[in-house]
Amino acid sequence: MTAAVRFQKVSRHFGQVRAVDGVDLEIAPGEFFAMLGPSGSGKTTCLRLIAGFEQPTSGHIKIFGETAEGVPSYRRNVNTVFQDYALFPHLNILDNVAYGLMVKGVGKAERTRGAEQALELVKLPGYGTRKPGQLSGGQRQRVALARALVNKPKVLLLDEPLGALDLKLREQMQEELKSLQRALGITFIFVTHDQGEALSMADRVAVFNNGGIVQEGTPQEIYQQPRTRFVADFVGSSNIISPETMSSLGGERRWASLRPEAIRLAGKDGVAATVQATNFLGAATRLAVEANGTRLHVTVPAGLPIPETGTSVKLSWLPTDVHYMDDAA
Ligand code: ATP
Repeated sequence: MTAAVRFQKVSRHFGQVRAVDGVDLEIAPGEFFAMLGPSGSGKTTCLRLIAGFEQPTSGHIKIFGETAEGVPSYRRNVNTVFQDYALFPHLNILDNVAYGLMVKGVGKAERTRGAEQALELVKLPGYGTRKPGQLSGGQRQRVALARALVNKPKVLLLDEPLGALDLKLREQMQEELKSLQRALGITFIFVTHDQGEALSMADRVAVFNNGGIVQEGTPQEIYQQPRTRFVADFVGSSNIISPETMSSLGGERRWASLRPEAIRLAGKDGVAATVQATNFLGAATRLAVEANGTRLHVTVPAGLPIPETGTSVKLSWLPTDVHYMDDAA
Protein backbone atom coordinates (compact mmCIF):
# COMPACT_ATOMS: atom_id res chain seq x y z
CA MET A 1 0.00 0.00 0.00
CA THR A 2 1.21 3.52 -0.78
CA ALA A 3 2.09 5.40 2.36
CA ALA A 4 0.27 8.66 3.06
CA VAL A 5 3.58 10.19 4.10
CA ARG A 6 7.03 8.71 3.72
CA PHE A 7 10.34 10.16 4.93
CA GLN A 8 13.55 8.68 3.59
CA LYS A 9 16.56 9.78 5.62
CA VAL A 10 15.14 13.28 5.97
CA SER A 11 17.23 15.95 7.67
CA ARG A 12 16.62 19.63 8.25
CA HIS A 13 19.56 21.47 9.71
CA PHE A 14 19.62 25.16 10.65
CA GLY A 15 23.32 25.99 10.71
CA GLN A 16 24.72 23.85 13.50
CA VAL A 17 21.27 22.84 14.80
CA ARG A 18 20.15 19.44 13.60
CA ALA A 19 16.43 20.04 14.07
CA VAL A 20 15.57 16.85 12.16
CA ASP A 21 18.32 14.34 11.60
CA GLY A 22 18.03 11.35 9.29
CA VAL A 23 14.38 10.49 9.97
CA ASP A 24 12.77 7.49 8.27
CA LEU A 25 9.03 7.39 8.64
CA GLU A 26 6.02 5.77 7.08
CA ILE A 27 2.48 6.82 7.92
CA ALA A 28 -0.39 4.75 6.50
CA PRO A 29 -3.47 6.29 4.86
CA GLY A 30 -6.23 6.86 7.39
CA GLU A 31 -3.89 6.52 10.32
CA PHE A 32 -4.00 8.71 13.43
CA PHE A 33 -0.30 9.24 13.98
CA ALA A 34 1.23 11.09 16.92
CA MET A 35 4.66 12.68 17.03
CA LEU A 36 5.56 12.81 20.70
CA GLY A 37 8.65 14.31 22.26
CA PRO A 38 10.05 17.03 24.50
CA SER A 39 10.38 20.64 23.40
CA GLY A 40 13.00 21.08 20.69
CA SER A 41 13.06 17.43 19.63
CA GLY A 42 12.12 18.19 16.01
CA LYS A 43 8.39 17.39 15.88
CA THR A 44 7.19 20.74 14.56
CA THR A 45 9.96 20.84 11.98
CA CYS A 46 8.81 17.42 10.72
CA LEU A 47 5.28 18.73 10.41
CA ARG A 48 6.48 21.83 8.57
CA LEU A 49 8.44 19.62 6.19
CA ILE A 50 5.28 17.67 5.37
CA ALA A 51 3.30 20.90 4.94
CA GLY A 52 5.97 22.32 2.66
CA PHE A 53 6.81 25.29 4.92
CA GLU A 54 10.35 23.91 5.19
CA GLN A 55 12.52 22.05 2.72
CA PRO A 56 14.76 19.15 3.74
CA THR A 57 18.50 19.75 3.88
CA SER A 58 18.80 16.17 2.64
CA GLY A 59 16.59 13.13 2.11
CA HIS A 60 13.25 12.67 0.39
CA ILE A 61 9.59 13.12 1.29
CA LYS A 62 6.72 11.46 -0.54
CA ILE A 63 3.05 12.22 -0.02
CA PHE A 64 0.74 9.52 -1.34
CA GLY A 65 3.57 8.22 -3.49
CA GLU A 66 4.40 11.54 -5.08
CA THR A 67 7.66 13.26 -4.39
CA ALA A 68 7.09 16.47 -2.44
CA GLU A 69 10.22 18.18 -3.71
CA GLY A 70 9.40 21.39 -5.50
CA VAL A 71 5.66 21.07 -4.73
CA PRO A 72 4.46 24.24 -2.98
CA SER A 73 2.45 23.82 0.20
CA TYR A 74 -0.91 24.82 -1.32
CA ARG A 75 -0.61 22.00 -3.87
CA ARG A 76 0.13 19.26 -1.34
CA ASN A 77 -3.35 18.15 -0.34
CA VAL A 78 -2.26 18.76 3.21
CA ASN A 79 -3.69 21.24 5.71
CA THR A 80 -2.48 22.39 9.10
CA VAL A 81 -4.25 23.28 12.34
CA PHE A 82 -1.97 25.50 14.40
CA GLN A 83 -1.90 25.79 18.16
CA ASP A 84 -2.75 29.50 18.07
CA TYR A 85 -5.54 28.79 15.52
CA ALA A 86 -4.35 31.68 13.29
CA LEU A 87 -7.91 32.88 12.58
CA PHE A 88 -8.46 36.23 10.84
CA PRO A 89 -9.97 38.45 13.56
CA HIS A 90 -11.75 40.80 11.14
CA LEU A 91 -13.51 38.04 9.16
CA ASN A 92 -16.60 36.32 10.45
CA ILE A 93 -16.51 32.60 11.17
CA LEU A 94 -18.05 31.56 7.87
CA ASP A 95 -15.51 33.60 5.88
CA ASN A 96 -12.68 32.29 8.04
CA VAL A 97 -13.72 28.74 7.27
CA ALA A 98 -14.40 29.45 3.59
CA TYR A 99 -11.05 31.15 3.13
CA GLY A 100 -9.23 28.13 1.72
CA LEU A 101 -11.99 27.64 -0.86
CA MET A 102 -11.85 31.28 -1.86
CA VAL A 103 -8.10 31.04 -2.46
CA LYS A 104 -8.81 28.09 -4.71
CA GLY A 105 -11.28 30.15 -6.72
CA VAL A 106 -14.43 28.28 -5.64
CA GLY A 107 -17.62 30.32 -6.27
CA LYS A 108 -19.51 32.00 -3.42
CA ALA A 109 -22.51 29.66 -3.19
CA GLU A 110 -20.34 26.57 -3.13
CA ARG A 111 -17.94 28.20 -0.66
CA THR A 112 -20.77 28.97 1.72
CA ARG A 113 -22.13 25.45 1.43
CA GLY A 114 -18.68 23.95 2.07
CA ALA A 115 -18.03 26.20 5.07
CA GLU A 116 -21.45 25.43 6.57
CA GLN A 117 -20.84 21.72 6.21
CA ALA A 118 -17.42 22.03 7.85
CA LEU A 119 -18.95 24.00 10.75
CA GLU A 120 -21.54 21.29 11.18
CA LEU A 121 -18.79 18.69 11.29
CA VAL A 122 -17.16 20.45 14.24
CA LYS A 123 -20.53 20.99 15.94
CA LEU A 124 -20.71 24.75 15.41
CA PRO A 125 -23.65 25.18 13.03
CA GLY A 126 -25.16 28.64 13.20
CA TYR A 127 -21.98 30.38 14.36
CA GLY A 128 -21.05 31.65 10.88
CA THR A 129 -21.86 35.32 11.45
CA ARG A 130 -19.84 35.73 14.65
CA LYS A 131 -16.30 37.05 14.78
CA PRO A 132 -13.47 34.97 16.32
CA GLY A 133 -13.34 37.38 19.29
CA GLN A 134 -16.91 36.37 20.21
CA LEU A 135 -16.07 32.70 20.66
CA SER A 136 -14.58 30.74 23.53
CA GLY A 137 -11.15 29.13 23.17
CA GLY A 138 -12.68 25.73 22.54
CA GLN A 139 -14.99 27.13 19.87
CA ARG A 140 -12.09 28.91 18.16
CA GLN A 141 -10.25 25.61 18.14
CA ARG A 142 -13.20 24.01 16.34
CA VAL A 143 -13.28 26.83 13.80
CA ALA A 144 -9.58 26.29 13.09
CA LEU A 145 -10.36 22.63 12.56
CA ALA A 146 -13.29 23.40 10.25
CA ARG A 147 -11.10 25.74 8.25
CA ALA A 148 -8.49 23.04 7.79
CA LEU A 149 -11.09 20.44 6.81
CA VAL A 150 -13.04 22.55 4.33
CA ASN A 151 -10.67 21.71 1.46
CA LYS A 152 -11.06 17.99 2.20
CA PRO A 153 -7.31 17.43 2.55
CA LYS A 154 -5.94 13.90 2.45
CA VAL A 155 -3.62 14.66 5.34
CA LEU A 156 -4.37 16.91 8.30
CA LEU A 157 -1.45 18.17 10.36
CA LEU A 158 -2.21 19.23 13.92
CA ASP A 159 0.46 21.07 15.89
CA GLU A 160 -0.45 20.91 19.58
CA PRO A 161 -4.01 21.86 18.65
CA LEU A 162 -5.36 21.37 22.16
CA GLY A 163 -2.50 23.08 23.96
CA ALA A 164 -4.45 26.21 24.81
CA LEU A 165 -7.50 24.44 26.25
CA ASP A 166 -8.17 23.64 29.88
CA LEU A 167 -8.01 20.01 30.94
CA LYS A 168 -11.72 19.20 30.80
CA LEU A 169 -12.22 20.70 27.35
CA ARG A 170 -9.01 19.11 26.20
CA GLU A 171 -10.26 15.67 27.12
CA GLN A 172 -13.56 16.30 25.39
CA MET A 173 -11.82 17.53 22.24
CA GLN A 174 -9.48 14.51 22.29
CA GLU A 175 -12.50 12.24 22.01
CA GLU A 176 -14.16 14.40 19.39
CA LEU A 177 -11.03 14.67 17.26
CA LYS A 178 -10.63 10.96 17.35
CA SER A 179 -14.18 10.19 16.30
CA LEU A 180 -14.04 12.88 13.62
CA GLN A 181 -10.86 11.31 12.26
CA ARG A 182 -12.52 7.89 12.22
CA ALA A 183 -15.59 9.22 10.46
CA LEU A 184 -13.65 11.16 7.82
CA GLY A 185 -10.91 8.59 7.27
CA ILE A 186 -8.35 11.39 6.77
CA THR A 187 -4.76 10.77 7.84
CA PHE A 188 -4.16 12.83 10.99
CA ILE A 189 -0.62 13.65 12.07
CA PHE A 190 -0.62 15.10 15.50
CA VAL A 191 2.26 16.79 17.34
CA THR A 192 2.22 16.80 21.11
CA HIS A 193 4.55 16.79 24.08
CA ASP A 194 1.77 15.30 26.20
CA GLN A 195 2.29 11.58 26.43
CA GLY A 196 -1.22 10.89 27.77
CA GLU A 197 -2.71 12.63 24.77
CA ALA A 198 -0.54 10.67 22.33
CA LEU A 199 -1.33 7.34 23.98
CA SER A 200 -5.06 7.91 24.19
CA MET A 201 -5.60 9.25 20.67
CA ALA A 202 -3.12 7.73 18.28
CA ASP A 203 -3.06 4.48 16.33
CA ARG A 204 0.71 4.77 16.26
CA VAL A 205 3.20 6.97 18.07
CA ALA A 206 6.71 8.07 17.12
CA VAL A 207 8.78 9.23 20.09
CA PHE A 208 11.23 11.98 19.17
CA ASN A 209 14.44 13.00 20.87
CA ASN A 210 17.24 15.21 19.54
CA GLY A 211 15.86 15.37 16.01
CA GLY A 212 15.41 11.63 15.61
CA ILE A 213 12.77 8.98 16.24
CA VAL A 214 13.84 6.82 19.16
CA GLN A 215 10.89 4.44 19.08
CA GLU A 216 7.81 3.92 16.98
CA GLY A 217 4.84 1.66 17.63
CA THR A 218 1.30 1.35 18.91
CA PRO A 219 0.57 3.15 22.18
CA GLN A 220 0.59 -0.24 23.91
CA GLU A 221 4.02 -1.14 22.53
CA ILE A 222 5.50 2.22 23.44
CA TYR A 223 4.09 2.10 26.94
CA GLN A 224 4.66 -1.55 27.73
CA GLN A 225 7.92 -2.17 25.91
CA PRO A 226 9.98 1.02 26.03
CA ARG A 227 13.23 0.29 24.24
CA THR A 228 15.35 2.93 25.88
CA ARG A 229 15.57 4.69 29.19
CA PHE A 230 14.50 7.92 27.55
CA VAL A 231 11.24 6.37 26.28
CA ALA A 232 10.52 4.64 29.58
CA ASP A 233 11.02 7.90 31.39
CA PHE A 234 9.19 10.18 28.97
CA VAL A 235 6.16 7.98 28.31
CA GLY A 236 4.26 7.45 31.53
CA SER A 237 6.34 7.16 34.64
CA SER A 238 8.61 4.21 35.10
CA ASN A 239 10.94 2.87 37.67
CA ILE A 240 14.29 2.80 35.89
CA ILE A 241 16.42 0.18 37.56
CA SER A 242 20.18 -0.12 37.21
CA PRO A 243 21.78 -3.47 36.22
CA GLU A 244 23.25 -3.92 39.73
CA THR A 245 19.97 -3.27 41.49
CA MET A 246 18.08 -5.44 39.00
CA SER A 247 20.32 -8.39 39.67
CA SER A 248 20.08 -7.86 43.43
CA LEU A 249 16.27 -7.92 43.00
CA GLY A 250 16.49 -11.26 41.27
CA GLY A 251 16.51 -10.15 37.64
CA GLU A 252 19.11 -9.91 34.88
CA ARG A 253 22.13 -7.63 35.18
CA ARG A 254 20.75 -5.10 32.68
CA TRP A 255 18.98 -1.75 32.73
CA ALA A 256 15.27 -2.35 33.15
CA SER A 257 12.02 -0.47 33.48
CA LEU A 258 9.11 -1.46 35.67
CA ARG A 259 5.85 0.46 35.75
CA PRO A 260 4.64 1.55 39.21
CA GLU A 261 1.28 -0.14 38.62
CA ALA A 262 3.01 -3.47 37.91
CA ILE A 263 4.38 -3.66 41.45
CA ARG A 264 2.15 -5.28 44.03
CA LEU A 265 2.34 -5.21 47.77
CA ALA A 266 2.54 -8.92 48.46
CA GLY A 267 1.79 -10.51 51.80
CA LYS A 268 4.81 -12.42 53.10
CA ASP A 269 7.02 -13.15 50.10
CA GLY A 270 8.73 -10.69 47.85
CA VAL A 271 11.38 -8.01 48.02
CA ALA A 272 11.56 -6.22 51.36
CA ALA A 273 11.03 -2.48 51.17
CA THR A 274 10.28 0.48 53.40
CA VAL A 275 7.57 3.01 52.63
CA GLN A 276 9.05 6.51 52.43
CA ALA A 277 6.13 8.58 51.23
CA THR A 278 2.51 8.24 50.16
CA ASN A 279 0.78 10.50 47.68
CA PHE A 280 -3.01 10.31 47.29
CA LEU A 281 -4.03 10.81 43.64
CA GLY A 282 -7.76 10.07 43.77
CA ALA A 283 -8.09 6.96 41.62
CA ALA A 284 -4.90 5.55 43.16
CA THR A 285 -2.22 6.22 45.73
CA ARG A 286 1.39 6.48 44.76
CA LEU A 287 3.99 5.20 47.18
CA ALA A 288 7.69 5.90 47.20
CA VAL A 289 9.48 2.91 48.71
CA GLU A 290 13.10 1.92 49.22
CA ALA A 291 14.26 -1.58 48.36
CA ASN A 292 17.92 -2.62 48.46
CA GLY A 293 18.97 1.03 48.50
CA THR A 294 16.87 1.89 45.43
CA ARG A 295 13.87 4.19 45.43
CA LEU A 296 10.88 2.79 43.57
CA HIS A 297 7.39 4.07 42.95
CA VAL A 298 4.41 1.81 43.46
CA THR A 299 0.83 2.60 42.42
CA VAL A 300 -1.84 1.17 44.69
CA PRO A 301 -5.35 1.25 43.17
CA ALA A 302 -8.12 2.87 45.21
CA GLY A 303 -9.81 0.48 47.59
CA LEU A 304 -6.68 -1.38 48.69
CA PRO A 305 -5.12 -0.67 52.09
CA ILE A 306 -2.37 1.96 52.09
CA PRO A 307 0.61 1.22 54.33
CA GLU A 308 1.86 4.08 56.45
CA THR A 309 5.13 5.88 55.95
CA GLY A 310 7.98 4.07 57.72
CA THR A 311 6.39 0.61 57.61
CA SER A 312 7.90 -2.46 55.97
CA VAL A 313 6.25 -4.03 52.94
CA LYS A 314 7.02 -6.82 50.51
CA LEU A 315 7.04 -6.07 46.81
CA SER A 316 6.31 -8.48 44.01
CA TRP A 317 5.87 -8.28 40.26
CA LEU A 318 5.59 -10.60 37.31
CA PRO A 319 8.87 -11.26 35.49
CA THR A 320 7.04 -10.35 32.27
CA ASP A 321 6.44 -6.83 33.61
CA VAL A 322 10.17 -6.15 33.72
CA HIS A 323 11.37 -4.61 30.44
CA TYR A 324 15.05 -4.82 29.76
CA MET A 325 16.34 -2.02 27.63
CA ASP A 326 18.85 -1.83 24.79
CA ASP A 327 20.80 0.96 26.38
CA ALA A 328 21.09 3.17 29.40
CA ALA A 329 20.77 6.41 27.44
P1 ATP B 1 8.27 22.33 20.60
O1 ATP B 1 7.45 21.26 21.24
O2 ATP B 1 8.91 23.26 21.58
O3 ATP B 1 7.57 23.04 19.47
P2 ATP B 1 9.65 20.64 18.66
O4 ATP B 1 9.94 19.26 19.07
O5 ATP B 1 8.49 20.88 17.79
O6 ATP B 1 9.57 21.57 19.94
P3 ATP B 1 11.18 22.01 16.66
O7 ATP B 1 10.35 23.24 16.70
O8 ATP B 1 11.05 21.13 15.50
O9 ATP B 1 10.99 21.16 17.98
O10 ATP B 1 12.69 22.47 16.80
C1 ATP B 1 13.79 21.56 16.76
C2 ATP B 1 15.08 22.35 16.92
O11 ATP B 1 15.31 23.14 15.75
C3 ATP B 1 15.11 23.31 18.09
O12 ATP B 1 16.39 23.28 18.66
C4 ATP B 1 14.80 24.65 17.44
O13 ATP B 1 15.37 25.69 18.19
C5 ATP B 1 15.47 24.50 16.09
N1 ATP B 1 14.82 25.30 15.05
C6 ATP B 1 13.55 25.14 14.58
N2 ATP B 1 13.27 26.03 13.61
C7 ATP B 1 14.38 26.78 13.45
C8 ATP B 1 14.75 27.90 12.61
N3 ATP B 1 13.88 28.38 11.72
N4 ATP B 1 15.99 28.40 12.73
C9 ATP B 1 16.86 27.89 13.62
N5 ATP B 1 16.60 26.86 14.45
C10 ATP B 1 15.39 26.32 14.38
